[in-house]
Amino acid sequence: MLDVQKIRKDFPILNREVNSKPLVYLDNAATSQTPQQVIDVIVDYYQNYNANIHRGVHFLSQEATDKYEQARQKIQKHFNAEKSHEIIFTSGTTHGINLVANGFSSLLQKDDEILVSAMEHHSNIVPWQMLAERTGAVLKVIPMNEEGELIMDVFHDLLGAKTKLVFCNHISNALGTINPIKEIIDSAHNVGAAVLIDGAQAAPHIQADVQALDVDFYTVSAHKMCGPTGVGVLYGKEEWLNKLPPYQGGGEMIAEVTFEKTTYADLPHKFEAGTPNICGGIAFGAALDYMNSIGFQKIAAYEHELLKYATEQLLSIEGLRIYGTAQEKTSVISFNIEGVHPYDIGTILDKLGIAVRTGHHCAQPIMDFYKIPGTVRASFCFYNTKEEVDVLVEGVKRARNMLL
Ligand code: PMP
Repeated sequence: MLDVQKIRKDFPILNREVNSKPLVYLDNAATSQTPQQVIDVIVDYYQNYNANIHRGVHFLSQEATDKYEQARQKIQKHFNAEKSHEIIFTSGTTHGINLVANGFSSLLQKDDEILVSAMEHHSNIVPWQMLAERTGAVLKVIPMNEEGELIMDVFHDLLGAKTKLVFCNHISNALGTINPIKEIIDSAHNVGAAVLIDGAQAAPHIQADVQALDVDFYTVSAHKMCGPTGVGVLYGKEEWLNKLPPYQGGGEMIAEVTFEKTTYADLPHKFEAGTPNICGGIAFGAALDYMNSIGFQKIAAYEHELLKYATEQLLSIEGLRIYGTAQEKTSVISFNIEGVHPYDIGTILDKLGIAVRTGHHCAQPIMDFYKIPGTVRASFCFYNTKEEVDVLVEGVKRARNMLL
């Protein structure tokens, strides 16, 4: 069992007041809060060993390089990648997906097919549409049902000899659905297609094992898992990363440069042009240490309890509908109240110190599917409490009474 009160002490921001009310932070799917242990690592970096990495002979550069590469190894171990150079530092999930989509420009041909799920974040739709425009490949959509689950029979029917790539999120940010990614990966591999899984929402809740999954690419963002913004990683199987051309050119990613021809550095540097977010990468490693010190199984069990409690309590409110009722889901609740605009509910909740997200959550196709402009989304982290759920429920009731 988690000692939530002890954990909460690690997060200074949770002591804040907002609009003269204690902050109730329920926007964790957008970004999670940062524990003191990670803040200390960031401060230590800038106070003690801020230097550019990989090319300095001096002491500080070596120290920063060692810590950065240690962080890469921690991330490798966490996701069980076979090799540390299969872990590419990025600025986040969006960057990782664009890197792969750009690389596939030279591997796809006209009329090749690429499959996307109906419940993707825009960052796992738009780069592939751009790829399809560049190459003449055809983008096909794996549909979902009312519960917010992928219709797997249709997925299997869509797969064929022309399918070259499948991309899908592990967990939907708008609905919380946990998708059957192992089935997706294995079925795609049966027809010779590669698979990219967007793990941005899964990584804070589930410890993915990229070798057991046999996934070709897996992307995450540190800021959703107690780390800083502006850093993430792309895991890619070595054979795929070797096939893809570099995404950006610049320093760090070269073996030799002449005006006639440049040769590229080995992995992972081939994909890491320019000075990276050094402090961010090191802090990402510290965030993983922090989460692992609590334990992902404990985190999942506690969050599941919160989800169950919050779902029951919210459903007791008249006219409230939850979107995303999949059997397998994480601690995200997207809802609306009949006759009320989600933005109005969010604004009233904010006045009560409750932070939720309202809108389309960068997943407009899902909103179109349900024929709604958006939802109110409460997303829970392991530092949230049942008491905070009660504050949310009271707040929603109050908003309903004011707005109807
Ligand atoms: N995919 C999903 C499922 C997400 O929830 C997010 C962040 N909301 C992203 C991708 C994009 O992540 P980032 O903005 O950190 O690049």
